[in-house]
Amino acid sequence: MSYLRKNIAEMAGYVPGFQPPDATAWIKLNTNENPYPPSPKVIEAIRAATGDDLRKYPDAASRAGREAAAGLYDYPVDWVIMANGSDELLNNLIRACAGEGEEIAYLHPSYSYYATLAEVQGAQIRTFALTESGEIKGFPERYTGKLFFLTNPNAPLGLRWPAAEVAALADRCDGLLVVDEAYADFAAENCLELVRQKPNVVVTRTLSKSYSLAGMRLGLAVAHPEVIAALDKIRDHYHLDRLALVAATAALSDQDYLQTTLGKVRATRDWFSNELRSIGYQITPSHGNYIFSVTPDRNGKRVYDALLERKILVRYFSDPLLAHGLRISIGTREEMEKTLQALSAIG
Ligand code: PMP
Repeated sequence: MSYLRKNIAEMAGYVPGFQPPDATAWIKLNTNENPYPPSPKVIEAIRAATGDDLRKYPDAASRAGREAAAGLYDYPVDWVIMANGSDELLNNLIRACAGEGEEIAYLHPSYSYYATLAEVQGAQIRTFALTESGEIKGFPERYTGKLFFLTNPNAPLGLRWPAAEVAALADRCDGLLVVDEAYADFAAENCLELVRQKPNVVVTRTLSKSYSLAGMRLGLAVAHPEVIAALDKIRDHYHLDRLALVAATAALSDQDYLQTTLGKVRATRDWFSNELRSIGYQITPSHGNYIFSVTPDRNGKRVYDALLERKILVRYFSDPLLAHGLRISIGTREEMEKTLQALSAIG
């Protein structure tokens, strides 16, 4: 296909976690969705917005959602941008900062979609490994690449870096340090305050996980206004539809509901982690809504297949750094009890 750019023709493309068409027949623990429904206020807001107004374009500036986020995080509105899923932001951050042949970096293992986005852009990719105790191996005294993604908490491993350590990393980066906080609501600490202190720090968030809105495709970023203005220039102008925008605003405004849901997910995560340890699994303590669990025989594929037969869907990565285990999203207590029983039976 000579029509295509060489890098597009040659790249493999990202493979997202399997979304079975008959999802109710499964215990679905493979894409870190929230097992609880979104806030009733979100459903109400979406219902109220599904009328005649749908013939009109949405607010291109997503003002209501940005104001809700800015109020919640205590930033001026021009420090916040909304997005059609945080994936949109990761993509536009690369497009904004790294030209063809310029370098971006991320940790391996972390979110493999950064690689796909960089390949589309024709950017160079550098990865940094982790030690057993979660230290970043070989990060240079000065990192001169255009952008460094730090998934914090790390996915799929679940470990996290304290804000003070992230601040020190930011000081060593010539380019942007993007803290991908897709899972930060499930953790005890986050890096939002760093954005105020360090002009090169960007924090990205998603409403897919903690706010139970993966189906609406909503994300946001907090960054210095100069970075926000750049992201604003290169996005699709109507990137949030009317329903997504009212959903985001209602979700961010219902913090009581968020806290209740988070409490349940965290309690189930901690209970499940302990139970799995007691049947011979090795678990990295997780700060997200998933755990990375090393199977007793270090054979993730065997256990993945056995769970699949029982209609339990988890995530197996063939990557040699991850193939000894499984990433298991945290579902309801009942779902995790069934998963535990299945894992005990599988051995
Ligand atoms: N970052 C990380 C680390 C993720 O795991 C995900 C979800 N797969 C995303 C970003 C993207 O989330 P979304 O586009 O649904 O907001």
